[in-house]
Amino acid sequence: MDPAILRISITMNLGGAENTVYPTLLWDERGVLLVDCGFIGALPLLESELGRHGLSVREITGLILTHHDHDHMGAAAALKRANPNLLIYASVHEAPFISATQKPLRLRQAEEMQKNLPPEKKAFGEAFCGMLHQVEPVRVDRLLQDGEILDSCGGCRVVATPGHTPGHISLCVEKDSIVIAGDAFALEESVPVIANPQFTLDMVQAAESMEKLLSMQAKAYFCYHGGIYCP
Ligand SMILES: [Zn+2]
Repeated sequence: MDPAILRISITMNLGGAENTVYPTLLWDERGVLLVDCGFIGALPLLESELGRHGLSVREITGLILTHHDHDHMGAAAALKRANPNLLIYASVHEAPFISATQKPLRLRQAEEMQKNLPPEKKAFGEAFCGMLHQVEPVRVDRLLQDGEILDSCGGCRVVATPGHTPGHISLCVEKDSIVIAGDAFALEESVPVIANPQFTLDMVQAAESMEKLLSMQAKAYFCYHGGIYCP
């Protein structure tokens, strides 16, 4: 088969609002890599999305996590239980937060923010912290380094894009000139912007990472929270 790069969508209702994210499938004769897997509880949605492409969870050979946020790794542990053979990939710097051998930075940040929230926002903050506590840690099987090339889809380069979190990575499928940006940037009215600045752990790094990706002049950039940027 010809290698295929497919975007799937996962929509869930979180705190009363619909939220859609877009994991990517890198599919070739060697296997199927999934890049990010959606929210806590998203496994059935993932299964039905895969089904639309004639795939099942059991055929996923690897899950690459761009970073440890709940909307990216929320379904990872359940996915691993459904298919114990799949390997989980993440950057060296992000792995401790994915496996929770170190306290996840997002949880730390949320708990810190909670102290200074105005009274009317406390309940929301508490619910958010509660949700982060429910993210199930998962062991990372393969640690990725900046610049490393995975052999999927004719060569897929790991690009370190720290800022949103310290170990955030993006991927570049070189042959097709497609960048899977994760949360390295988002699109607002088709313009690249820092994704969720209020949650970005290092704004200077995040701005540099966005610039680094854009300077690669790829044909298309897949943004996890929606949109494909084609400069
Ligand atoms: Zn995200």
